[in-house]
Amino acid sequence: WPGSGKRKVDFYQLEEILLNTPSAEKAEEWSRYYTAGPHLAGKNLSQAEWTRDKWEEFGIKSDIVDYDVYINYPAGHRLALLEKGDAGDDTSTWKVAFEASLTEDVIEEDPTSGLEESIPTFHGYSASGNVTAPVVYVNYGTFQDFEDLLKANISLEGKIAIARYGGIFRGLKVKRAQDLGMIGVILYTDPGDDGDVTEANGVPTYPDGPARQPSSVQRGSTQFLSIAPGDPTTPGYPSKPGVPRQPVDRAIPSIPSLPISYLDALPILKALNGHGPSAKDFNKYWTRNTGLNYKGVDYNVGPTPDDVVVNLFNDQEYVTTPLWNVIGIINGTIPDEVLVVGNHRDAWIAGGAGDPNSGSAIINEVIRSFGEALSIGWKPLRTIVFASWDGEEYGLVGSTEWVEQYLPWLRKANVAYLNVDVAVKGPHFSAAAAPLLHRVIIESTRAVSSPNQTIRGQSVYDTWDKNIRTMGSGSDFTAFQDFAGIPSIDVGFGVTTEDSVYHYHSNYDSFYWMQKYGDPGFLYHKAMAQIFGLLTAAVADVPILPFRSEDYTTALGDYVKKVENKLDAFLSPKEVEISTLSEEDIFELRASHRETSRVSTTGGQDEKQKGGHTAESFKGSLKRLHEALTVLSQSTSNMDRQRLKLTDDLSKDYHWWQWPKILKLWLSVRRLNTAYKYMERGFLYDQGLDGRPWFKHVVFAPGLWTGYAGAVFPGLVESIDSEDWGNAVRWVDIIEKCIRNTAASTGY
Ligand code: GLU
Ligand code: CA
Ligand code: ZN
Ligand code: ZN
Repeated sequence: WPGSGKRKVDFYQLEEILLNTPSAEKAEEWSRYYTAGPHLAGKNLSQAEWTRDKWEEFGIKSDIVDYDVYINYPAGHRLALLEKGDAGDDTSTWKVAFEASLTEDVIEEDPTSGLEESIPTFHGYSASGNVTAPVVYVNYGTFQDFEDLLKANISLEGKIAIARYGGIFRGLKVKRAQDLGMIGVILYTDPGDDGDVTEANGVPTYPDGPARQPSSVQRGSTQFLSIAPGDPTTPGYPSKPGVPRQPVDRAIPSIPSLPISYLDALPILKALNGHGPSAKDFNKYWTRNTGLNYKGVDYNVGPTPDDVVVNLFNDQEYVTTPLWNVIGIINGTIPDEVLVVGNHRDAWIAGGAGDPNSGSAIINEVIRSFGEALSIGWKPLRTIVFASWDGEEYGLVGSTEWVEQYLPWLRKANVAYLNVDVAVKGPHFSAAAAPLLHRVIIESTRAVSSPNQTIRGQSVYDTWDKNIRTMGSGSDFTAFQDFAGIPSIDVGFGVTTEDSVYHYHSNYDSFYWMQKYGDPGFLYHKAMAQIFGLLTAAVADVPILPFRSEDYTTALGDYVKKVENKLDAFLSPKEVEISTLSEEDIFELRASHRETSRVSTTGGQDEKQKGGHTAESFKGSLKRLHEALTVLSQSTSNMDRQRLKLTDDLSKDYHWWQWPKILKLWLSVRRLNTAYKYMERGFLYDQGLDGRPWFKHVVFAPGLWTGYAGAVFPGLVESIDSEDWGNAVRWVDIIEKCIRNTAASTGY
């Protein structure tokens, strides 16, 4: 402890080790191991054991923790376009105009694209079914896309939807189609969403170039993620053998769905030409990024006439089967302050060089580095728990069940969760984080040399924009942040639409692709291992937690303003210019129940009352949040001021006879750390969000109809969307209480 003699390995030596140990060659070696064959959830025991053994070899005590979870494996599928011609009413006698291949091409140079045991194209948690019906093009399948179709009187009931991937979580596309009485969903990847790097622009396709391989298919989960992640049969408690199981119908689809490539989508989209309105007749969101015009697709909405139908057959085998998290631990000296660091191991495909095993490779390098430090006598202040999650792809299953199991301990001791999923798919550093952790993530990029430099000597800090996204969902931080109230971060090197196309959840997210296009030389892997190691050390091994509570207060103020802006836009709708919106804003707008650009008919100034409240009285109530934040701001600035003072005190030298002073200092640091540790917990609301009680955080949740993108103050925002002003005021009460209680419980 400071003042009580030097530590055997001090923080600066540790930093040196964390910067110097990670190697590109080792990361490449781990990547090669993880991506050599299929490792689907519940079918990767050998990789779990290998990971445990490696971590043990690096010097970290490790174990496998298993759960019995309900998941599906593909048994069969078919997708065909049928035409009646002269046949009778029995569609099984109709002419097969097109039979979709539902497979990705085998590429000679890319060995895992051609494995005999390769994983078929399918959706996690999709429903089995065999349906035949006309098809309707539903754009991205956002809430507003479906609203547009309803408004145009397009018949949806009993039809099959074809939607392009993108923007929102795929399961929510299926959910909305199902809610509206559609009987099946086809999801395809439109190369228009790849940006400039497309076949249409003459860019060679993978493996000859960086454009999308036309047969590539995005697999993925269709769980209703924004309702609850984890095993759908055990919401809120761990899937241990013998526990009671709940019915699943609220959490996963009841209609079948299939993912397809743009090659397979072409004949179906073309069959829609000339039928129903065209995307051009709708609005700008329908013509945005359409990429198959050059292949003769007019993007008509349909439906196809009754004598041109699609047969969609999906056969899924549902089982309750074990899956395996690997948990490694380095015990610290402070008993009740624990940091958790995790990455998932399971992949949809044999490869998974980006998703998730770039993360697995760098986590191994981080652990190997900490092992080096341990071997020369270092011991962290806080306990560090490392996790290799299984079952993330199906719905964050391994991490969610683990958090549900250890909830009491985590709520008491867990100071933060650091997540890395796709560590590398391109060259642009990106981060999402709880406001408490903004500062530490920014600082952790300072000492790491950037693999791409426009000026010699640039660090990652110098080369990124430092825009930190709010926590949404889509990876393993969700149970920590939204269920347990543990401040979390998620980092990765990402892509823009100018980089090599990333073949997300496709066979071509392979070792060969990574080596050739994603990260030749594995330099970004090395940089990420350095960043992640420093970040881990910055949270686990400095006496005062590196949190900034004022950043939280500031962020909360910004979120209240965001709600006010949303309300203003609602009260006086204006046309928004699409080019001024970020990708996230576009889909947030398209996911809300009501699109601000054309609501004047029903919304606007009319005094719709609920529980005696109007939009105006709700607006007035938001003042109370600003007032509460003023109180919180006093506490948080006191905390951060105390941090500076204690940091200064800690840097001084003390003699043994000053022990009363040292003890007092130690107690002050304890007290401050405890206040920081519990701050995020203050925003949990036990009853949870409306209609989705698993989500307990009043500030952060996945958007109800976005999934990936986060909603801030979800309770408020959803109440505005549904014009339930009474409920909106109820949420103001809840949030106000959280803010005031948090301020009081900090004790500052
Ligand atoms: N990361 C996976 C995906 O985006 C799983 C997300 C989830 O189900 O929550 O498909
Ligand atoms: Ca559970
Ligand atoms: Zn992933
Ligand atoms: Zn994934």
